[in-house]
Amino acid sequence: MAGSRFVTDLRRRDPHVPVTVFGAEPQQPYNRILLSNVLAGVARPEQIGLVEASWYAEHRVDARLGVAVTRIDRKARVVHAADGSVTPYGTLVLATGSTAVVPPLKGAEDGLPAGALPFRTLEDCRKILELAGAADRAVVVGGGLLGIEAARGLAGRGLPVTVVHQAGHLMERQLDPGAGKVLARTLDRLGVRVRLQAAVRALRTEGEGEERRVVGVELDTGEFLPAELVILACGVRPQVRLARAAGLAVERGIVVDEMLRSVTDPAVRAIGECSQYGRTVYGLVAPAWQQATVLADLLSGADRGARFTGARQITRLKAAGVELAAMGDSRLGDEDPQVEVVQFSDPARGTYKKVVVREDRLVGAILLGETGTAGTLAQLYDRAAPLPSNRLGLLFPGLDGGMGDSPARLPDAATVCHCNNVSKGQIRACWRQGARSAGEVAERTRAGTGCGTCRDAVEDIVRRLNEQQEAVPAG
Ligand SMILES: Cc1cc2nc3c(=O)[nH]c(=O)nc-3n(C[C@H](O)[C@H](O)[C@H](O)COP(=O)(O)OP(=O)(O)OC[C@H]3O[C@@H](n4cnc5c(N)ncnc54)[C@H](O)[C@@H]3O)c2cc1C
Repeated sequence: MAGSRFVTDLRRRDPHVPVTVFGAEPQQPYNRILLSNVLAGVARPEQIGLVEASWYAEHRVDARLGVAVTRIDRKARVVHAADGSVTPYGTLVLATGSTAVVPPLKGAEDGLPAGALPFRTLEDCRKILELAGAADRAVVVGGGLLGIEAARGLAGRGLPVTVVHQAGHLMERQLDPGAGKVLARTLDRLGVRVRLQAAVRALRTEGEGEERRVVGVELDTGEFLPAELVILACGVRPQVRLARAAGLAVERGIVVDEMLRSVTDPAVRAIGECSQYGRTVYGLVAPAWQQATVLADLLSGADRGARFTGARQITRLKAAGVELAAMGDSRLGDEDPQVEVVQFSDPARGTYKKVVVREDRLVGAILLGETGTAGTLAQLYDRAAPLPSNRLGLLFPGLDGGMGDSPARLPDAATVCHCNNVSKGQIRACWRQGARSAGEVAERTRAGTGCGTCRDAVEDIVRRLNEQQEAVPAG
């Protein structure tokens, strides 16, 4: 996703510089985020493409899709690829993303048996769908964002699903225990069983060789959960093999500076999930796309002052029947006297809302069950804007008491869609040019087509612009 965004952004700024793209996956770049929607049956693979097949030729980009780079020779400034080719570079951009972590399970020592697989690529998604058609039960190992989206998608297709999660509550990196509990209850109502503090120690299989297939998982308690489909959603690891072999500085990711240059070799840049800025490896698309744009600005010369100085992380779950947005230090409690926590919980209705405030700024939030204020909170969080004294309006839409921070009242310079870096001013300009719905704005600016966190905000802005127009007397 970072690579394709970089190439399209670079071409917009510089129509001439020679560009070669290698992509190990065989198909056109696609919006990986939307794989969850494909799994759930609300999007088709052909609807999630990011770049049309004809785009490369039309823009004179040499695209080698289905061809992996196997070695970087920094001295000779060439890359060697799996098709035997050797390609010179002036600047090399690494956007190799991550690979799914496959835990060391008994029964998976010699590779995964049929029926057990990760969920990272379109190919994984296709296989999961194929297997789901023939399976009676599924187990998802890992109760993070990805595991939950996969489980909900499969349950929506009528397959009984159990999520096995090692931690004491779901999505423990984004949620506090209270929210995790409410989420588990909501999922249970939607046909997803959740087993917490449970570890899978083995995959049980039947058959030999090519015929070996999974029949269930064994927990560390010895309990057996039968399943013909086992999805491993146990986290991701930056894909840094090439960089490490080429002698570039790699910690968790390829270490880069504010100009996305490898700290070892300025001719090599790294963006997206394979890169590490400061101590952070970002695992979301918004920072990856921000980096891509900064790099396009730098390499084209469109803005030589462009810098990546870090990004705020906002997570939104894409699972039918579960509204969830989380951002920042949402797990903080008010043990710290500097921290103010405002929260509301109604587990029977699946609602849990919390905002964490420090020095009158929003530093974290969880909205579960009802996310009407997600757009506003994302704005306040992102801009570190001072909060209104009426905290209730942060949790409940309509109770803002005129807090003045509806997305529609944002300044034009404020970023509304972080994934695609679309400002309020760009949405307004798009509206002036005739876009009258969030869908039309999305088509023209891409706003709302990433993680979806800003969709409510875009709708709000467009609706208010439409209302203002209607309110102006004709003539
Ligand atoms: C199901 C799912 C749901 C997600 N939902 C969200 C969400 O809601 N919000 C969010 O922000 N993020 C989400 N993510 C994470 C998001 O998809 C990633 O943050 C994003 O894809 C990172 O982009 P990237 O370009 O760094 O890596 P990738 O998209 O993984 O792209 C890296 C590409 O490089 C290729 N490659 C690797 N090595 C080589 C090589 N040697 N030669 C050639 N090509 C190579 C890989 O094959 C891959 O195609 C989700 C991910 C998944 C799997």
